[in-house]
Amino acid sequence: MSEKLIGIGASNGIKIGTAYLYKPVTVNSKIERETIEESEISNELNRLENAKENSYDELELLIEKVKESLDTENIGIIKTQLEFLNDPSFIPEIGKKIEKNKYTAEKAIQEVVNFYSNLFAGMKDEYLRERGSDIKDIGKRLLRNLVNEKSNQLSEINEKVILVTDDLTPSDTVQLNKEFVQAFVTRIGGKTSHTAILARTFDIPAVLGMGDNMAIIQNGDILIIDGNSGICIVNPDQDEIEDYQRKAEQEFESAKLLKEYINKQAITKDGYQIEIAANIGNPEEAKIALEKGAEGIGLYRTEFLFMNNDHLPTEEEQYQAYKMASETMKEKPLIIRTLDIGGDKELSYFTFPKEMNPFLGYRAIRLTLDRKDIFITQLRAILRASAYGNVKIMFPMISSLAEFRSAKAIYEEAKKQLRDEHITFDEKIELGIMIEIPSAALLADQFAKEVDFFSIGTNDLVQYTLAVDRMNEKVAYLYDYFHPAVLQLIQKTIEASHQAGKWTGMCGGMAGDPVAAPILIGLGLDEWSMDASSISKIKQVISRLDRSSCKLLVEDIFQLGTVEEIRAKLKEFYDSI
Ligand code: PEP
Ligand code: MG
Repeated sequence: MSEKLIGIGASNGIKIGTAYLYKPVTVNSKIERETIEESEISNELNRLENAKENSYDELELLIEKVKESLDTENIGIIKTQLEFLNDPSFIPEIGKKIEKNKYTAEKAIQEVVNFYSNLFAGMKDEYLRERGSDIKDIGKRLLRNLVNEKSNQLSEINEKVILVTDDLTPSDTVQLNKEFVQAFVTRIGGKTSHTAILARTFDIPAVLGMGDNMAIIQNGDILIIDGNSGICIVNPDQDEIEDYQRKAEQEFESAKLLKEYINKQAITKDGYQIEIAANIGNPEEAKIALEKGAEGIGLYRTEFLFMNNDHLPTEEEQYQAYKMASETMKEKPLIIRTLDIGGDKELSYFTFPKEMNPFLGYRAIRLTLDRKDIFITQLRAILRASAYGNVKIMFPMISSLAEFRSAKAIYEEAKKQLRDEHITFDEKIELGIMIEIPSAALLADQFAKEVDFFSIGTNDLVQYTLAVDRMNEKVAYLYDYFHPAVLQLIQKTIEASHQAGKWTGMCGGMAGDPVAAPILIGLGLDEWSMDASSISKIKQVISRLDRSSCKLLVEDIFQLGTVEEIRAKLKEFYDSI
C-alpha cells in the first residue's frame, strides 16, 4: 500500500524512481565492541580475511565497470586500493593487533588505518599525502565488509536511483554521478542546508528533513518525489503514478516557457533594472551560472574548496580556482566570500572544538581571525586572482565593527605583502560584509561608512534573529524570512547603505523566492544572488512587477504583525500579477 511522507521541499522538480539506501561508514564510526577474549582470536582473524576477500572482489568488479567508462583517474585510485590489500605489511599488521592486543577486527582496522592516514597526511609530497585518503577509503571498505553490508559507495551508483540517506556531506554530493541520481531524500536538513543548495545548483529535486518517518523506505521501493511541496510517496498506486507523471509533464512545459527569460535583463514594467547574480561553490559552476542567465556571481562559497580536500588548500591551489572563476566571469562581478567554515561545515583534516552550539561558536570570520595564517593565505590568493576580472571580497558572519576592522587590517596586510613582492592585483577592489547577524543589521549605518557594500545572508539572518536552527526539522515551521522582525532588519540594511551612497545585495535563499520578489523590489534591493536554477523564474516575475505598487505593498506589509498575515498578503499580490 502506498504511504505519503512529508518533508521539506528543498529543490523543485518531480521524479518517480527506485529507492537506493545509502548508509555512509567512516573510518571512525563508533564501534560496538573493541576487545575480544583469547578464544575468539581465530574467529576474528577469519572475519578479517573474509572482509579482505570481499573487498578485493568488489574492487576487481569496480575496475571492470570503470574501464568501460575510460575513467583513468578512478582506475588509478582503485588500483592503489588493491595494492594496499596486497601489501605485505598492511593486512598482517591488522591481524597482529587482533592477536596481540585482543582487539576486534573493527578496532584493529581503525587503529592501523588511522596510523597510516596520519602518517601520509603529514608528508610533504602531494602524491603521498593523497594516499592518506586512499587508505581511509580502503579502511571504510573493510569495515563495511566486516558486517557484510552491500557495497554502497556513492560513486558506484550506475543506474537511475533516488538516493535515500540521513544527510549528505558536501564531499558526498561531489562524488555523486548526477546522471544517475534523480532525486534526494534525507532525514535531516532544511531548505538552506548545504545539501539543499547543492541540489538546487544541479537541478536535482530534493525532499529533506523527513525525520524518522523515513525509516519505512526499503531499498528498491518505488518512490515519487515532489521537491516543490516536500512530498515523498512510497510504493505509489497506479493512479498516483499517473497523476504525478502528468504534473511532471506540465512542469517540463513551464520550464520550456521560462527559457526565454534566461538571456533577458531583469527590468520591471516601469523600467527599473535589477542586477541578477548567482551563488556558486566552485569555479566550474560559474560557467553553469552564465548559461542560466547570471549577470555576476553574488556569492562564491569558498569553503567547498576547503571541504573537498584532504589538506588546507595552498595559496597557489586557491589562486588557480579563484582565477578560473574570475576569467570565466570576465568584466562581470565576482564576489568571493572568505572562508565560512564551522557550524554544519567541517573539514576532515582540521579538528574543531566540541561545542554546545556550533552555529554560535567558532565559525567563519571568528575562525579566520584566530587563524591568521589561513586568512592571509586566502586573501593573498583572492587578491592575486583579482588581476584577471572584476573581483570583490566579502567577510562572512561579521557581528561588530571591531571584528570588521580587525579583518580589514589583515586584508590590508595581505595587500601590502603583494605590493612589496611586486605582485599585481586590482587596487580598486571593493570590500563588503555579509549581513547575517542581527547586530550587524542594527548597526548598518555605522558599517555603511566603512564598507563598500552589504550582502544580506537571509539563511543565517533568519536563524539568528528568530533563534531557529536552520538545520533542525523540528523547528523548521518557525523558520521564515517573512517574519516582520527579519523584514525590518533587511529594510534597515538597505536604507543605511543607500544613505551612505553604497549598495546592498542579497545572497540568502530569499533572493531566489518569486513570492519575495515584490517586497525586495519595494525595499530597493540592488543586487539579487541566487541558485542559478532560480534565475529565469525571478527574471520573469520581475518583468511583471512595477516598482510603485511594490512600494505600496511594502507599506502595507510593515503594518502587519505576523508571518501568516504577511504570507497571505503576499500570496494575494502574487496571484494578481
Ligand atoms: C546565508 O547565510 O544566507 C548565506 C548565503 O550563507 P550560507 O548559506 O553559506 O551560510
Ligand atoms: Mg551564512
